[in-house]
Amino acid sequence: MTRSIPTKARAVIIGGGVSGCSVAYHLAKLGWTDIVLLERKQLTSGTTWHAAGLIGQLRGSQNMTRLAKYSADLYVKLEAETEVGTGMRQVGSITVALTEERKHEIYRQASLARAFDVDVREISPGEVKEMYPHLNVSDVVGAVHLPLDGQCDPANIAMALAKGARQRGATVVENVKVTKV
Ligand SMILES: Cc1cc2nc3c(=O)[nH]c(=O)nc-3n(C[C@H](O)[C@H](O)[C@H](O)COP(=O)(O)OP(=O)(O)OC[C@H]3O[C@@H](n4cnc5c(N)ncnc54)[C@H](O)[C@@H]3O)c2cc1C
Repeated sequence: MTRSIPTKARAVIIGGGVSGCSVAYHLAKLGWTDIVLLERKQLTSGTTWHAAGLIGQLRGSQNMTRLAKYSADLYVKLEAETEVGTGMRQVGSITVALTEERKHEIYRQASLARAFDVDVREISPGEVKEMYPHLNVSDVVGAVHLPLDGQCDPANIAMALAKGARQRGATVVENVKVTKV
């Protein structure tokens, strides 16, 4: 990573977790090359390092659904673009409901997701059992299946975003703690 720190920049991003790396990547993609990301330790050394890497598109609000779909689509392409192995595998996900209220909630989220072109389908407890025989479905009242949900390596996703930002001219500096804004 670059060690010299510019004295000024159009935007300074504090923190090299997945959020900071994503902001750098997207600003650079918009043509903002005069940007600097400062990370106090190493990239991904914060919460991002601990994440399980589940990429789920079933969300409670329109904006979160759009963001989750956009992220899932981006992570599928990111490895080819940056040559950083992201470990993204679209193995699909099943969400089950044990009460009628929860069933209505996940069905509502599924309709919302469908409106944003997320591949999602309501499935019966029997279909859940067929897809995942280890699950006891005796108290399951409803479920949804998202075939394009998946799992990735969160640290490498952040690394790939940082590389994509640097490829477009952004400066990424590690071991610099921001002490004042
Ligand atoms: C156990 C666990 C499992 C999780 N599983 C999932 C999951 O499956 N799916 C999912 O979507 N989310 C999951 N999450 C949530 C996800 O990890 C976080 O939402 C995400 O990593 C937050 O990223 P961030 O960039 O905002 O924060 P961070 O990754 O914490 O990044 C912040 C960065 O800022 C740096 N920093 C802080 N202060 C300064 C400073 N003064 N100067 C310079 N740098 C500074 C830190 O060193 C750090 O690198 C999980 C979280 C945990 C803990």
